[in-house]
Amino acid sequence: MDPGYHLMELPTKVLIGEGVITKLGDFVKDSVGGGMVVVASGTNVASKVRRAVEAALPQEPIWVEVTAADIKNVDRVMGEAVSSRCIIGVGGGKSVDVGKLAAFRLHLPFYSVPTSASHDGISSPFASLRGLDRPYSMMAKPPVGILADIDVIASAPRRLLASGCGDLVSKLTAVKDWELAHTVTGEYFGSYSASLALMSANTVLNRSKTLGSFDKESVRELVEGLISTGVAAGIAGSSRPCSGSEHLFSHYLDVLSPESGLHGEKCGIGTIMMAKLHRIDWRRVRSALKNVGAPVEAAQIGVEDSMVIEALTKASTIRPDRYTILSKRKLSRKSAALLAKSTGVI
Ligand SMILES: [Zn+2]
Repeated sequence: MDPGYHLMELPTKVLIGEGVITKLGDFVKDSVGGGMVVVASGTNVASKVRRAVEAALPQEPIWVEVTAADIKNVDRVMGEAVSSRCIIGVGGGKSVDVGKLAAFRLHLPFYSVPTSASHDGISSPFASLRGLDRPYSMMAKPPVGILADIDVIASAPRRLLASGCGDLVSKLTAVKDWELAHTVTGEYFGSYSASLALMSANTVLNRSKTLGSFDKESVRELVEGLISTGVAAGIAGSSRPCSGSEHLFSHYLDVLSPESGLHGEKCGIGTIMMAKLHRIDWRRVRSALKNVGAPVEAAQIGVEDSMVIEALTKASTIRPDRYTILSKRKLSRKSAALLAKSTGVI
């Protein structure tokens, strides 16, 4: 039952631009004072970035390498951070998710320093981790600050950046699902946060060819889009503007085939099919994804046709409280296969 009110939690500050990693010390100064800092970093963070982080902070941080986005790693970071003043997540998805949840549980400020732009977890109040009681993200708190160095992010593999475009474009169907839920169940719908999320999705739809060059200007646009969608979730007080049926499809594939594809890649493919169910221009979604170099067929991410069909028919069961087009349409195996084939996904 909708209580009729909700809390908006937003990042306090964002520093974005080329070379801003050198300003990290100043950026976190308010939280750190003279105290200790824990850095949760990815295992692949370039030594150049690590040196830059260490040089920017006033004293050497406790460095914890995050090996997986799971609860074991959250416990490790929490163990190191009990007497520190804040946690900084430096890396792609895993370290930001793990650092965010560890900070949330310890009531510490969290700073996000993304080294790639593969999904909107860099700014959202959600953490996506294995070992929770659910295969989708859990509510934590948004980062207090996000420091996005475009030089660093632009040197991330193109596959990660294309995946970020997939997560952005997915807001198109997420918002459609939210509107549908509002009509059917009377759930709260926030048109402001919905518009904000759609604006980011439209960046990909309208500018896919330029965006796909992933030069510094495009990367900055992508990162700003991802930050905005995380903020949209903060304003909505839920992941609704960012995550609908296409995310349920992606989460179901996570269960069936955990190692196949990146989050944004699976969401992008899901968006093509959910767009068709919503009767919006799915061909445009597909060509935008192709233009940025993101996969549009299940085989490109090593997912078998049968898995796509199973995910389409069962995705709505993993989160029954989230009403989407998949709750309304309840696809049979036959109609799921037809949908996937007609959109070129299988
Ligand atoms: Zn997402």
